[in-house]
Amino acid sequence: MTQEELFRKLIAHSKEYGFIFPSSEIYDGLSAVYDYGQMGVELKNNIKKYWWDAMTKLHDNIVGIDAAIFMHPRTWEASGHVGAFNDPLIDNRDSKKRYRADVLVEEWMARQDEKIEKEVEKARKRFGEAFDEAQFRSTAPRVLELSARREQVRLAMVAALTDNDLEALRRIIVGCEIVCPISGTRNWTEVRQFNLMFETRMGAAAHGANIVYLRPETAQGIFVNFLNVQKTGRMKIPFGIAQIGKAFRNEIVARQFIFRMREFEQMEMQFFVRPGQEIDWFNRWREVRMSWHRALGFGDEKYRFHDHDKLAHYANAATDVEFQFPFGFKEVEGVHSRTDFDLGNHQKFSGKKIQYFDPESGESYVPYVIETSIGVDRTVLQVLSAAYTEEKLDGGEERVVLRIPAAIAPVKVAVLPLVKKDGLPEVARNIVDMLKFDHNVQYDEKDSIGKRYRRQDAIGTPLCITVDHESLESRTVTIRHRDTMAQERVPMAELPRIVEELVSMRRLFERIKPL
Ligand code: ATP
Repeated sequence: MTQEELFRKLIAHSKEYGFIFPSSEIYDGLSAVYDYGQMGVELKNNIKKYWWDAMTKLHDNIVGIDAAIFMHPRTWEASGHVGAFNDPLIDNRDSKKRYRADVLVEEWMARQDEKIEKEVEKARKRFGEAFDEAQFRSTAPRVLELSARREQVRLAMVAALTDNDLEALRRIIVGCEIVCPISGTRNWTEVRQFNLMFETRMGAAAHGANIVYLRPETAQGIFVNFLNVQKTGRMKIPFGIAQIGKAFRNEIVARQFIFRMREFEQMEMQFFVRPGQEIDWFNRWREVRMSWHRALGFGDEKYRFHDHDKLAHYANAATDVEFQFPFGFKEVEGVHSRTDFDLGNHQKFSGKKIQYFDPESGESYVPYVIETSIGVDRTVLQVLSAAYTEEKLDGGEERVVLRIPAAIAPVKVAVLPLVKKDGLPEVARNIVDMLKFDHNVQYDEKDSIGKRYRRQDAIGTPLCITVDHESLESRTVTIRHRDTMAQERVPMAELPRIVEELVSMRRLFERIKPL
């Protein structure tokens, strides 16, 4: 199966099993907006809990807030979003399709990388055992030529973006002979800046004065509450404030399912530190966050860091945690050292003193900030794409199984009476009652047991408990494990303990690196 096929199947599967639906589908959907169904919402809530508890429970110096989506419009002037939250866009005159100019160049660079890898693979085949990869990469003329050109283009793009030189950006696209994937032509317009914030109006006043924005990030809700939380929580630096909430961006190109949406959810934590110590904290947080991802158990090789070449206007260090999606390595989380840019600017724009008196050093200062910012939806997509597996079973049958880590699986346990009679349903219902206060449990008595297992595999339920005739006499049941399909007989009275052990989030938390 190609990665493209895998991705198509994943999207179809997400819909068929109630994870993700296109928004307002009966009206043909709304571009880049999605709804979470009965399974999707459980998965999403579990991911949020995994993040929230990893922040607020595992660190006694991190607390949470829940700020409003609407904020005073001055907030977005102070943050730089009104002036600079733009993406450079370019249109192809033949296809009438619109692209992000920087993304076109990044895709071109990815193609050069693929060409280099192909050269390496060809040589590996040719030289066999004797192949010295490092030497080949540093000497083969074709590889050197490709890498040099790629590096030249990368530097040119960084310079164009940093200087906001749109004409230079266009020259790069033309120079690389990038064609529109739809029309195949190079008939490009000028590059223009496009602001990504959604506007709406508040209250009944007439035009203009009452414009408010839908927040494009949750972080500003934390900054404007810095003093409130610091004072009322008697927080001492270093400390963090965490928040989960919706954010909105009028993305130019919204493709790739829930990877790039116009309405999405973020989990952000701002960690306030003493000036001068930010790079040390930045390095610590990047490791902690990587370990949070890896604790999910999808394989360490699926993740990598991508350090930023072009730093945002507010940052002095930044890296992305990238995950290997079916469409390549892409960002799921950013870790940014935001300096004192935000608090400093809010101080300036609001006229309120936003400072911290450090009892240790005896000075007052505007704290520096390390931000960790992760998309809930991209994490859902990460989990679904890593978990989706098609398997051939003995006997020729096939199954689709979502190998979602047990702790975040939407349904933890399915309780299945072998037949719909002889008192088995009653026993099964009792088991549901025994477990339902602690876990999300499903009862299912319809169809053959094999079909019921397949249904649970398809939504990623880690445990199926089957009640059979023997259960009536010996007060035992079988537990079937999703991944191995192994079955074991256990006493009913032991079920709460066994289930808790297998599905507890503790297993994930224990793998996260301490700060
Ligand atoms: P990209 O470069 O992909 O546009 P970004 O660098 O603008 O992302 P940030 O502003 O750092 O993203 O936002 C932090 C996180 O929020 C991202 O790592 C991502 O997980 C999530 N995110 C950002 N934009 C979107 C979107 N349009 N849809 C879904 N998630 C998003």
